[in-house]
Amino acid sequence: LSVSARRVASPHGEFAGAALAYTDVTDFMRLLRVKDEFVASVSHELRTPLTSIVGYVNILLEREDLPPDVVAQLEVVARNTDRLNRLVADLLHTAKSAAGPMHVVRAPTDLAAVVRDSVEAAGPAAARAGVSVQVAVPETLTVMVDQQRMAQVVDNLVSNAVKYSLPGGLVQVSLGLDVDRVELCVIDSGIGISSADRDRLFNQFFRSRQAEERSIQGVGLGLSITKSIVESHGGRIEVESELGQGSVFRVRLPR
Ligand code: ADP
Repeated sequence: LSVSARRVASPHGEFAGAALAYTDVTDFMRLLRVKDEFVASVSHELRTPLTSIVGYVNILLEREDLPPDVVAQLEVVARNTDRLNRLVADLLHTAKSAAGPMHVVRAPTDLAAVVRDSVEAAGPAAARAGVSVQVAVPETLTVMVDQQRMAQVVDNLVSNAVKYSLPGGLVQVSLGLDVDRVELCVIDSGIGISSADRDRLFNQFFRSRQAEERSIQGVGLGLSITKSIVESHGGRIEVESELGQGSVFRVRLPR
């Protein structure tokens, strides 16, 4: 049952009473649960055939007798399968997060290496988009975090920065210590975010009108997952942005 209340005022604006509205939300809640179960099982079913495709494409790519045009085509298959894999992982993650708090496994992790790996992984997409990526990280910076999940955070922020940049744009990624906190900063000179959108950016499935209009691919799950990972590590994520000027995403984690 959902209850909402409203103050009722007299014509002179004085308190005259209260109105209560009771709504039965049982069907709505059941529908939400069915949706989450559906998303979870479909994502799961998609995983098996995807794993098989990735495996065979990799076996084919190892052959040395392939003509160059076939290699190029197989690389397109590999890239898109990779994207599909990430999408399925995001959907599974989202369905699971509806079921309860996230489970993080902390271990000493070199975040500097994690950042360098993400930047390297974003290299081909940046080159295709004509975007340059600069990285400023210390030699090593070891923090107690869940390595896989933090890699997902950095991957999401860096790939967004590239994706929402314009040709000739610059992405700057930095990692450092600010007193007793670790700070990761991803700056881009891309399409930016309006102040109205900034509040909704981290909601599941949110996409800005600018992203849709430019047909930039995405489903709007990356930032909601990023935020939940950062918060489950006791950290915070902030964004500063101006439409048409670029964006700054800043993650602060306790050391
Ligand atoms: P996706 O990129 O798949 O749409 P995200 O959850 O990562 O999903 O991002 C949600 C939305 O936030 C994007 O659709 C885009 O509108 C906006 N956004 C995220 N990062 C940036 C950025 N660096 N610059 C401009 N807009 C961004």
